[in-house]
Amino acid sequence: MTFKLKDIIRPSVAAMKPYSSARNEFQGEASVFLDANENPWNLPYNRYPDPLQRKLKERISVIKDIAPEHIFTGNGSDEPIDLIIRAFCEPGKDNIVTITPSYGMYEVAAETNNVKCTKVLLDSNFDLNAKVLLDATDEHTKVIYLCSPNNPSGNLLNREEIYRVLKYFPGIVVVDEAYIDFASVPSFLTHLLAFPNLIVLQTLSKAWGAAAIRLGMAFASEEIIGVLNKIKYPYNVNQLTQEYALKILADTEMMQSRLTLILEERERMAQLFRQPPFSFKVYPSDANFILMEVGDADYMYKGLIREGVVVRNRNSVALCSGCLRITTGTPEENNILVEKMKSLLR
Ligand SMILES: *Cc1c(COP(=O)(O)O)cnc(C)c1O
Repeated sequence: MTFKLKDIIRPSVAAMKPYSSARNEFQGEASVFLDANENPWNLPYNRYPDPLQRKLKERISVIKDIAPEHIFTGNGSDEPIDLIIRAFCEPGKDNIVTITPSYGMYEVAAETNNVKCTKVLLDSNFDLNAKVLLDATDEHTKVIYLCSPNNPSGNLLNREEIYRVLKYFPGIVVVDEAYIDFASVPSFLTHLLAFPNLIVLQTLSKAWGAAAIRLGMAFASEEIIGVLNKIKYPYNVNQLTQEYALKILADTEMMQSRLTLILEERERMAQLFRQPPFSFKVYPSDANFILMEVGDADYMYKGLIREGVVVRNRNSVALCSGCLRITTGTPEENNILVEKMKSLLR
């Protein structure tokens, strides 16, 4: 299937000129900045931040082994999730297709923009069938959102099926890899050149432990990154976030050592809950959480809340009845969870 960006971009977005900020217009060395109506005092925070986050992208480029031109950084992944819909979907006319169960923001972002969202049920192993997914698309489908490892199920989607979607769908295919650092397989990032319609999303919110700073990344062709840059807020990533992101991205060893501990704890928890006295069905996970069937999930959820332990009740989500989604915490937190759950068994 040949993919041409000009065939799927919204005509108004293709035609528009982006806002040109003072910081955008002048780049280079200077000593007196009187171009942006900033206050001359309170350095460095009196100055508008780099609208294209160049230093940050250089660091991400090294870590991910991908050129800065292929990187967009935003206010969490939630920003590119929304921008992609606004760039490609004409409200009231176009639609997106995604999977269920999965991350709720794809549908919310679509509905906010008056864009229909069709959700295709995964199979009983929470896996993807490309044909079933593609059958749900029509000539107005501009974007497909996939999530792998998937939230809330924790599994990686079948790689061959994702390739099939990328190959046969003529629009944008987003692969949300928020949890990819916890998985034992390579990222789809290595396929950016092979698939011009691919956008990979990653984030500092999970493995990097920096959900508070709101830093999400989208990786795609230079052409697609150009479109996202054109419609984003000029200063979408604030200075404090850029600084802290650089700081945390400097210490990959710290990230790795915490990651290792999280993976050990995830497996310890999975084993523990599979065994008596629990004997729960615990789904295999490639993320930093486990999904498990606990029987009466509402009862368990409420009981844990009373004990001061909050987990995610997925009982009313497709294919997840009776299920809780449990994030891997510190060993101490996990032990508290186990004790409280024991006390709730009946
Ligand atoms: C947590 C999560 C994100 C992260 O979103 P941010 O806005 O970057 O914090 C993205 N996608 C999925 C599926 C998630 O679970």
